[in-house]
Amino acid sequence: MAGNWKMYKTAPETRAFFEKFAPLVERSEHCEVVICPTYPSLEVAAEATEGTRVEIGAQNMYWAKEGAFTGEVSGPMLTAVGVKWVLVGHSERRQYFGETNETVLQRTLAALEYGLKPIVCVGERLEERESGNTEAVLVAQFREGIARLGSEQFAKIVIAYEPVWAIGTGRTATPEIAADAHRALRAQVLADYGKEAAAAVRILYGGSVKPDNVKTLMAQPEIDGVLVGGASLDPIGFASIVNF
Ligand code: PEP
Repeated sequence: MAGNWKMYKTAPETRAFFEKFAPLVERSEHCEVVICPTYPSLEVAAEATEGTRVEIGAQNMYWAKEGAFTGEVSGPMLTAVGVKWVLVGHSERRQYFGETNETVLQRTLAALEYGLKPIVCVGERLEERESGNTEAVLVAQFREGIARLGSEQFAKIVIAYEPVWAIGTGRTATPEIAADAHRALRAQVLADYGKEAAAAVRILYGGSVKPDNVKTLMAQPEIDGVLVGGASLDPIGFASIVNF
C-alpha cells in the first residue's frame, strides 16, 4: 500500500504526518507500507519512520551516479538518507516532464543497481481508452519500459497500473476495468518471464483510491495493492486505506 504525496507537504508537515500515521499502521502486517514524499522531506520521513513498519520512497530519480545534471537526484543520494523505494514513470512525469518508456527503463535499471525497489507506473490516457487502445498502450509501455529487464531484475520490481484519466480526477476505474488491465499486464509478464513471475509480480492499482472504494478494488484477486495520491496526504484516511 503506497502513498504518493506529489508536490505536497513541507518537512515539518511530514514530521507531523508520521507522528499520527505510524502508530495507526503499527499492526498492519498484511502488507508493506510505503510513502513517497518530496525530496526535501525524505530524510525527515526516513528518520520519523525508523523502527516502524513504514518505508520511504522517492517520486523520481536520475540514472547517473553523479555528475553535471543540475536539478537531478541519484540513487546513492536517496539510499544515503534511508530511502528504500522509488516511483518510476508516474504519468505526471510522462505528461509534464518528458518521461518516455526508454527513460523509464533507464531509471528502473539504475534504481535496481543502487539497491532501490522501483514501483514502475503504466497507464493509458483517456483518448487512448476511448479509441479502444488501452491494451496496446499497456503492452507498449510494458515491452519498451519493463520487458528489457532480466528475470532477476524483474523479480524486484512492483508495477502500478494507473489509468491517467483516473488520477486526481475523483473518477476511479471500476474494479472490473482495473482487473482487466491487470490481467493484460500479467499476461505480458507470463509471456516474457514465465508462470512463476506472473504469479509473483505485484500489480498495484492507482487512480482516485479513497477509504470508501479501497475494499471493492482490493476484492479483485488481480489487484495486489494500491498506489494512492491525494488520499495519502491525510494520516487517518491513508491508515484506513492501509487497513482496509
Ligand atoms: C497518484 O498520484 O499516483 C494517484 C493515483 O493520485 P490520486 O490517488 O490522487 O488519483
